[in-house]
Amino acid sequence: MIDRLCIIGVGLIGGSLALALRRVGYVNEVIGTSRNQDHLQRAVDLRVIDRFEMNAACAVDGADIVVLGVPLGAMQQVCEQIKDALREGTVLTDVGSSKASVVAAVRAAFGRLPMGFVPGHPIAGTEKSGVEAAFAELFQNKRTILTPLESTSEQACQAVHDMWAAAGSIVEISSVDHHDQVLAATSHLPHMLAFGLVDSLARMGEHDEIFRYAAGGFRDFTRIASSDPLMWRDICVANRRALLSMMARFRADLDIIAEAIENEDGEVLLEIFTRAKQARDTYVIG
Ligand code: NAP
Repeated sequence: MIDRLCIIGVGLIGGSLALALRRVGYVNEVIGTSRNQDHLQRAVDLRVIDRFEMNAACAVDGADIVVLGVPLGAMQQVCEQIKDALREGTVLTDVGSSKASVVAAVRAAFGRLPMGFVPGHPIAGTEKSGVEAAFAELFQNKRTILTPLESTSEQACQAVHDMWAAAGSIVEISSVDHHDQVLAATSHLPHMLAFGLVDSLARMGEHDEIFRYAAGGFRDFTRIASSDPLMWRDICVANRRALLSMMARFRADLDIIAEAIENEDGEVLLEIFTRAKQARDTYVIG
């Protein structure tokens, strides 16, 4: 049970976490903060938070757990705003989609890694953003990865673990590097393909016709290209090393498919497509 929770960045993820915890009565009071008073008032109206503070340092005052729910590019700036106000022993966690960059941001802002800091990432989301898009069931049966550091206290790790479990999530522990490599492959690369494909088609002369005939498959494949451009700009930059290595690998594999098509090599194509179908049918549900 959390007495006072502070969410910095009450958007899709931060707002959904607050709603999920309130639904099960796991939190007494939720304080929100961000840059925009209208957004925060909307969060109060939607009963996502109890109240808000425009000053991040005031918002964290007396909090048991502070959640950084802002875009990756804003993590260091908000940590600098709260560093002097955060009590020793306050648990600090984040929801950022890449972990090494957040660890670097926290270290740069605090000048050290606080023992209460537990990097985290819920593997759940939608292509929508803002508090209006938040909903309590977002994390239900979805995984949340925590990447505790050597500096992280066991108590802080347990508190963040229990918070995500109460929100309905299946909590797993990983290392920062492993998290960033796996997410580059399973989330960041697919977003690059979706953004790249839609942009490429949109810039073709006859794009009206192309999109008019786009059917279910195209819709499924490109849904994630409607995600927030700013958030994805930050993710690419933050996880660039792992993402570039995945992109190079994928580019080489795409070349193999192109070569097989050029050579009319049906056997190679069938082999690749069969392998892919088997993998998807085995590992991806739904
Ligand atoms: P979002 O809906 O846009 O929410 C971000 C919130 O941060 C907004 O409410 C914004 O409020 C606030 N904010 C932005 N810059 C700020 C700053 N400098 N200081 C204080 N507040 C600031 O985005 P989201 O989808 O929840 O993503 C938030 C984090 O979750 C990101 O780090 C992302 O990598 C991670 N994540 C996203 C997903 C996903 O699918 N969307 C999944 C997992 C993790 P104001 O405009 O009022 O300032």
